[in-house]
Amino acid sequence: MTHVSSPALLEVSSLAKAFGGNRVLQDVHLAIGRGEIVGLLGPNGSGKSTLLNTITGFEAIDAGSVRYAGQEIGRLAAHRIVGQGVARTFQLPSMPQKMSVIEVAMAAASAHHGFWETLLRGRAARRAEQAARDKATRLLDEFLLTHVRDLPASALSGGQKKLLGIVCALMGDPQLLMLDEPTAGVHPNLRNDIVQALLRLNRQGMTLVIVEHDMHFIREVCSRCIVLDRGHIVASCAPQELSSNERVLQAYLGGGTSQ
Ligand code: ADP
Ligand code: MG
Repeated sequence: MTHVSSPALLEVSSLAKAFGGNRVLQDVHLAIGRGEIVGLLGPNGSGKSTLLNTITGFEAIDAGSVRYAGQEIGRLAAHRIVGQGVARTFQLPSMPQKMSVIEVAMAAASAHHGFWETLLRGRAARRAEQAARDKATRLLDEFLLTHVRDLPASALSGGQKKLLGIVCALMGDPQLLMLDEPTAGVHPNLRNDIVQALLRLNRQGMTLVIVEHDMHFIREVCSRCIVLDRGHIVASCAPQELSSNERVLQAYLGGGTSQ
């Protein structure tokens, strides 16, 4: 394993997760240091999304621990984990039917800041709303969604929903952002904008974990790769070492349990 300066920002130990008899994650150990950009690779069905889901509280873990900034978060609900500065995007984002793009982004701000915001009244509530609107406007611009800001979010293309998912995750100013296939289904013209935006966020101090299949993207963006195969971590190495790493190649060529 590549050395991570301690204490790690995220530390997963002995994590296990099964669905019925399907043991999807087994004895997963990983450590992510502050400021890293880690690519999470592996064949379809190897457990990448489930790993993100368990770390962020969207699925309960069966065993093991997840520590974030030194605190155990392995059994916290998703909204509590978000409140601590961990945000994520979804592989297949679903959007509410009746909200516009900017409304969805603004709603994400209160989801991140928790229920205290709902207790605000009068001027304080208006100030919080204006701050959320300003931030949503800036992020929609950065992720090339200004021209669709008043459309229903459910009408966006798959790629645009991915971008809106990133905007929503950023509304809470996370320290750790986990992205599930951020460029899948995104038009190639937008791909470079996403790459540049993620590198910029990282320069500003954000730690990133990115589930990704595109090797160009991984070489361009990631400082380290972690490879999952059938629920086990089989490698942690620099992107340049991927092609010379036999276990990684085996994972890609011979591995995979489902689509
Ligand atoms: P990946 O993201 O690497 O493609 P997933 O984490 O989505 O893989 O899936 C890993 C395995 O876990 C698959 O066999 C999948 O069918 C199963 N799985 C994932 N989520 C659920 C769920 N909510 N219920 C039952 N099985 C699930
Ligand atoms: Mg997945």
